[in-house]
Amino acid sequence: MKARMIALLVFVSALLLGGCGQQPTVQKTEMVMDTVATLSATGTDSVAAVTEGLKRLKDLEAMASPSIEGSDVDKLTAAAGNGEWVQLHPEIYHMLEVSQQYSRLTDGAWDVTTGPLVQLWSIGTDQARVPSVTEIAQAKALVGWQNLELQPETQSARLLKPGMSLDFGGIAKGMALDEVRKIYEKHGIKDGLINLGSSSIYALGRNSKGHEWRIGIRHPRSEDKDATLAVVPISDQALSTSGDYERFFEQDGQRYHHIINPHTGAPAWTGAMGDTIVIDGSVEDAGMLSDLLTTAVFVLGPEKGQAFMEQLPEGVTGMIVDQQKKLHPVRGFEGQLTDRNEEFPIE
Ligand code: ADP
Ligand code: MG
Repeated sequence: MKARMIALLVFVSALLLGGCGQQPTVQKTEMVMDTVATLSATGTDSVAAVTEGLKRLKDLEAMASPSIEGSDVDKLTAAAGNGEWVQLHPEIYHMLEVSQQYSRLTDGAWDVTTGPLVQLWSIGTDQARVPSVTEIAQAKALVGWQNLELQPETQSARLLKPGMSLDFGGIAKGMALDEVRKIYEKHGIKDGLINLGSSSIYALGRNSKGHEWRIGIRHPRSEDKDATLAVVPISDQALSTSGDYERFFEQDGQRYHHIINPHTGAPAWTGAMGDTIVIDGSVEDAGMLSDLLTTAVFVLGPEKGQAFMEQLPEGVTGMIVDQQKKLHPVRGFEGQLTDRNEEFPIE
């Protein structure tokens, strides 16, 4: 599958291997988890941290990818409706626990069982098309987080209806940020960047110039892929974005994008054009939450999404860009932006 467009731009000064008297900095890039992953780290153990981090991403992909035979997702989908419990890797089990918690909190705006709808629309692939009302109703009947059961004692799960399937596209990369971060910690890395290409980043410490990492949020409508909406400096924080400009097609003036409203079975046309969420590293599962929340808040739309975020732990901030290009910041997030493009006024 072709790598997705890059939604975030990272302004990094040249990364050097070695350097007189300085700690070595290493950077490696690989295609994994359907994206271009770039890991960089500074520290005596940086080579080991980056190598092990990339290996971890491959291992997580093998657990979470629906197209890899024998993955946890593949097993769950294959067993859907037959009553059997499927034992999961602890990382995947934990991801489902968090996912279910947020499905409850968002009243199903976030729903990891959206698989049948994601497949039906196939947005971002050559098969993308507008399905019929009947097809949508049929797929929608197979979607519902209440029909995903978890069993903590055995770290197992099951899908209650035949034909159900899971889709981790809005959460797995975020979870992977947290997992790579643990590896960096083990190797004593204090400065580095875990960049999962199109939409999720965790920044540790400082960049090679000793400054916060500057993350550019892509302009959601510009043809110029380097144009930005704003720049967000971050340090020891996770940052994710979602938007209707990452994967979409247009037909009869309508934009069909890859974020699905499970309640309608169609792309979420709830007023958001994109959103960005920044979560402090002290918040548990910061990476996973940043990824999940960008999708969930996009579906909720600007007003409900903003109100929802205000109730979350204090380390969660961010903004929603609405279809009129107005920014809806949460917890004073506008103060964290630099180089804001004037096309995007603050509401
Ligand atoms: P990316 O940044 O990789 O494009 P996002 O974080 O924006 O992904 O999440 C979008 C992906 O999440 C979709 O491609 C799909 O796999 C999945 N998804 C879409 N709608 C929902 C939803 N309502 N709840 C959970 N997952 C969803
Ligand atoms: Mg997301």
